[in-house]
Amino acid sequence: MRDIIIVGGGPAGLTAGLYCARARLDVILFEKMTPGGQVLLTDVVENYPGFPEGISGFELMDRMKRQAEGFGLPIEMREVLGFEFSSETKTVTTDKGEEKARAIILACGATPRKLGIPGEQLLTGKGVSYCATCDGPFYRDQEVAVVGGGDTAVEEALFLTKFATRVYLIHRRDQLRATKILQERAMANDKVQIIWNTIPVRILGENGVEAIELKNVKTSKMSTLKVQGVFIFIGYEPNTQMVKGLLDLDELGFIRTNAEMQTSVPGVFAAGDIRSKNLRQISTAVGEGATAAFSAEKYLESSA
Ligand code: NAP
Repeated sequence: MRDIIIVGGGPAGLTAGLYCARARLDVILFEKMTPGGQVLLTDVVENYPGFPEGISGFELMDRMKRQAEGFGLPIEMREVLGFEFSSETKTVTTDKGEEKARAIILACGATPRKLGIPGEQLLTGKGVSYCATCDGPFYRDQEVAVVGGGDTAVEEALFLTKFATRVYLIHRRDQLRATKILQERAMANDKVQIIWNTIPVRILGENGVEAIELKNVKTSKMSTLKVQGVFIFIGYEPNTQMVKGLLDLDELGFIRTNAEMQTSVPGVFAAGDIRSKNLRQISTAVGEGATAAFSAEKYLESSA
């Protein structure tokens, strides 16, 4: 049995792993894909302190991974299928067998939310995308739509102007949710055209996106916008399906913790985007990862 199992290899999980490894705990981190989390989908990160010129999401996460591994954190590619928290020994079931630990740090993040409209699923990967960094370069000299009004939508719309001739930003209200500096940049960019008070109702096309059908929520007027790509950035769903009924969650499904990252079950901690909180940033995930590791260490000492 190990001291700690960390689930999730984004900024929160890797930082927790770094701190656990430096504390010489018997720790392992499970990640179902490449470590790095959602930051890997970001072209340039410019609000993580210490990088005044910005840093690519890939490079930042590669550095975090190498730093944690350098201190001895083992990272294994495994998909977690379930948890058992009912006794002091916690069990994690994975696609490669069961593992036990005295404490768990959950840092499994969140997954892009879907619109749930006709055409979305059918055309995913054929013009519908949830990652501008991955798919943006396919839209050189074409027109694309971005759905959403938060930081992600505005940031990614700006990124897409590197390739597309026009980026329509479709937002359901008459005010963006995004940080002011991003709003200013979008307003100042000739290639970005904001379509206010509008929701997409259908994505049209057979083997590729041809157009998006829109509805103005104020006037109920319908319209069709010809675009070759639709990028959807309307927030995230927490990856908490496996802990429903085991841990206290908020009304949106995020894990509730106290300031020490302790969940409703002693010995189970949570950090990063999976937590119930107001600010989801790399910088907050990193701080929570460190706190979760510290709290888990204290828990192990007290329950030894
Ligand atoms: P978000 O802040 O939750 O914004 C989601 C956006 O999508 C909102 O504008 C929302 O509209 C809209 N929306 C939600 N459901 C919709 C639906 N069914 N149909 C149409 N529109 C819908 O999500 P996010 O932008 O992905 O950001 C998530 C978190 O990561 C935030 O905390 C954000 O600050 C952070 N983040 C930070 C950075 C950065 O600092 N550079 C970059 C990316 C993300 P309403 O506004 O009307 O609710």
